[in-house]
Amino acid sequence: MSHETVYAIASGKGGVGKTTTTVNLGTALADAGARVAIVDADLGMANLAGFVSLSPDSTTLHDVLAGDASIEDATYRLADDIVAVPSGTSLDEYAETSPEGLREAVEDLRSRFDYVLLDVGAGISHETVLPLGLADAVVLVSTPEPAAVHDTKKTVELTDRSGGEVAGLVLTRTRPDGDVSHEELADRLEVPLLGTIPEDPAARDSVYAGTPLVVYEPDGPAAVAYRRLAADLTGVEVPVPTDDEPGTADAAATDDATAAASEPDADADAATDEADGREAAHDDVSSAITEAESDP
Ligand code: ADP
Ligand code: MG
Repeated sequence: MSHETVYAIASGKGGVGKTTTTVNLGTALADAGARVAIVDADLGMANLAGFVSLSPDSTTLHDVLAGDASIEDATYRLADDIVAVPSGTSLDEYAETSPEGLREAVEDLRSRFDYVLLDVGAGISHETVLPLGLADAVVLVSTPEPAAVHDTKKTVELTDRSGGEVAGLVLTRTRPDGDVSHEELADRLEVPLLGTIPEDPAARDSVYAGTPLVVYEPDGPAAVAYRRLAADLTGVEVPVPTDDEPGTADAAATDDATAAASEPDADADAATDEADGREAAHDDVSSAITEAESDP
């Protein structure tokens, strides 16, 4: 099997955590030294930019797909090793785009980055289906609610039809009291369970802060789970605490989030040199660069 580097992050239902997953998988991989591009391929409901404090006022993927700009023009550096390609948010712009150009844009990014993560729109429209076939593998995202899992079946089917491959299922916003086992939910879709991301108030707080969760509250339960997922999915050595102390997500912890983000993780075991590199990336992400850079 060839090495998978382009992932579509997809779901049947909206609001299940696709953008959160795209941003945090990407940031976790970049923190570990991989070169990453995250792309807002949710052309109708673009919102990735807000998660990382980018202002989508300048050139976006919409301009690229309308044939008015190159993909480089719509590529913005977020931190060391990570760039984002935002989409425009106006309905007028949306009407002018042609998703066909996405293929070319993805191939360009594929040649320049170790990993390309496509944040795909929910549902079954053309621009949702296209990325499923362009990606090397599709990461299905769902909450554990039966209805959301059920809707994910359609995404599995659409992936098959578009010649794509499903990597597996990520369950988000899981709670300890859930009554159906996570494995069983994945079994219903006949796909592997890639990982689970617990319900964590820091997820929402991090969006308001415009900072990826894995930077905003790196020791919180969801951030730790995203780093574990990044490691399991790609094989990149992303440091994950191995003890049974996944951190806390209480209000006191969020107050300290900025300080925590710029402090080396005491548990980060042997990889200290690499950890220093990651600190720089954390600081860069936190400073929320809004300025355009034409090349990473
Ligand atoms: P999608 O891209 O699928 O529409 P989002 O990533 O925008 O979904 O997430 C939808 C909402 O759920 C957001 O408000 C986000 O902050 C929240 N959310 C995502 N993951 C979690 C989590 N693990 N715990 C709590 N809230 C979450
Ligand atoms: Mg989204």
